[in-house]
Amino acid sequence: MQKREQFLPFARPLIGDDEIHEVIDSLKSDWLTRGPKTGHFEEKFKKYIRCEHAMAVSSCTAGLHLALAAAGIGPGDEVITSPLTFCSTVNVIVHVGATPVFADIDPQTLNINPEEIEKKISPRTKAIIAVHYAGQPCDMDAINKIAGSHNLLVIEDAAHAIGARYKGKMVGTLGDIASFSFYATKNLTTGEGGMVTTDNDELAEKIRVLSLHGISRDAWKRYSAEGSWYYEVLYPGFKYNMTDIEAALGIHQLSKVEWWRELREEYAAYYDREFAGIGWIRLPGVIDGAVHGRHLYVIMLEDRAPVGRDELIKEMGRMNVGTSVHFIPVHLHPYYRKTFGYGEGMLPVTEDVFKRIVSLPLYPAMAEEDLRYVVDVVKGIVG
Ligand SMILES: *Cc1c(COP(=O)(O)O)cnc(C)c1O
Repeated sequence: MQKREQFLPFARPLIGDDEIHEVIDSLKSDWLTRGPKTGHFEEKFKKYIRCEHAMAVSSCTAGLHLALAAAGIGPGDEVITSPLTFCSTVNVIVHVGATPVFADIDPQTLNINPEEIEKKISPRTKAIIAVHYAGQPCDMDAINKIAGSHNLLVIEDAAHAIGARYKGKMVGTLGDIASFSFYATKNLTTGEGGMVTTDNDELAEKIRVLSLHGISRDAWKRYSAEGSWYYEVLYPGFKYNMTDIEAALGIHQLSKVEWWRELREEYAAYYDREFAGIGWIRLPGVIDGAVHGRHLYVIMLEDRAPVGRDELIKEMGRMNVGTSVHFIPVHLHPYYRKTFGYGEGMLPVTEDVFKRIVSLPLYPAMAEEDLRYVVDVVKGIVG
């Protein structure tokens, strides 16, 4: 088949004139860092997710770190999470001094398997970080039930899952606390950024304080007319606030996120239809009662595939199509092997899935012919 001339990137942000004008407005105003636009973005996000508190932060990673820190999780504690995630989900557990414990995934949904969580609970377990992989909500009823009977905190890693729903409720309201990512490749972007959501007043207040040095008041309130020079440090906090320049992007991205999710759903359905007839491709399933966030479109290669996963990626690259792998299982990274004694054979479902997965391009900026081209390239692979 004819190779396309222009490389089709794996992901691309979609920034409109609304975002551009709002950023310019920020640049011309007196508020570059956290200010009124960040507050506005938080209010808007809160209404969208239908939660009590939304705290804009510098990244999803920062939000997850703050969630653990605010909950007082630290040395001697264990936190259970999925090994099929970005390393930052697990790094933050180490940052607070706690021990990460991996529970294997479900081979159909690629999300953490509640039965495996149950097996990993010890007297030291304090929290579960549920990663909504690719945008598909985890089996939250089962996870919350386990958490309830062992008095565990449930944190959602919602980096992939803005707009996803579980039994009518928005992702971000399904556990005790959640963290979203607005990194450049995510479904809503502010370049870098994140949002923490919770209905818990105490955790929300602590996160607000911890995200800005542990200082008892927002800087912009201190320097505005009603403010004063006085502040108090309540904890040795972090510098994890969002800026108004980032929030300027977020306010307008958020207005489009529902429409974009529907587009992603359409594109994913097109891929599903086209790949359904290919015997060597296995597609992840969607659980009942869930609306998928459709951040990633992941296919899995059966053993009888004409090429291996790595060869498929190479061939698609040669045909000018960007792909990616989500993720290298965290327990196989050198740090986690060395520090916690993890290695091959310990999480067999994740390790088997990892060898088979490829993420294909899926984003609203794709044209119909881009989608068709990706399908044609995959179908053209015969080994
Ligand atoms: C992207 C990602 C993160 C980190 O998001 P940042 O905003 O870059 O910190 C965390 N978890 C998962 C599953 C991700 O994909």
